[in-house]
Amino acid sequence: MDFAITVTNYDLSRKTMRWYTDELPVIQKAMKEAAGLQFDGSRLKYDDFGDFFSIMFSQQQGTKGSMNYATYSSMPGFKVVGKSKWSNALMFNVFTLSMWNRSGGTSLFQKTFVCDMLEPIPENVRKEMAQAAKEYVKGVVHCSGCEKEVQRDEIAGRYFAGVYCTDCWESTYRAIEAKETYN
Ligand SMILES: [Zn+2]
Repeated sequence: MDFAITVTNYDLSRKTMRWYTDELPVIQKAMKEAAGLQFDGSRLKYDDFGDFFSIMFSQQQGTKGSMNYATYSSMPGFKVVGKSKWSNALMFNVFTLSMWNRSGGTSLFQKTFVCDMLEPIPENVRKEMAQAAKEYVKGVVHCSGCEKEVQRDEIAGRYFAGVYCTDCWESTYRAIEAKETYN
């Protein structure tokens, strides 16, 4: 049985980041208890006009070292501590949105963005995710290594939920996968 909460493009354009971080976990916990079943409550289902995907947010907080002061001091979501060229930056309201196919077996989209807690996901992020969903339905995925478009039947290899083009697979990931599997 599938107890994941489903969100549409319309929902995503209206729910604030606080809904995902504060309200959603409470709803998911209540659903899990009501159902009396184990299920992975950390993922949402995304319904793009009848095509279903798994999505998940992670919020990144804390200190990120060695950020270029000139670049990050003016960027929302970062407060740079120190004024030397490479200073430590405090991150806040930095989120990563990830999307997989429905079963969660294939990674289709990942984007890190800065967003106020009381705002919905930025429109450009929502549009890019919807685009990746539509491409997947048409048989196109993006290589998890270099992001180039790959036809689904031309995927050279898989490593966890990552999918790789021939170049990335042969140059890097085949060896990593082999090492993990046989050591
Ligand atoms: Zn590649």
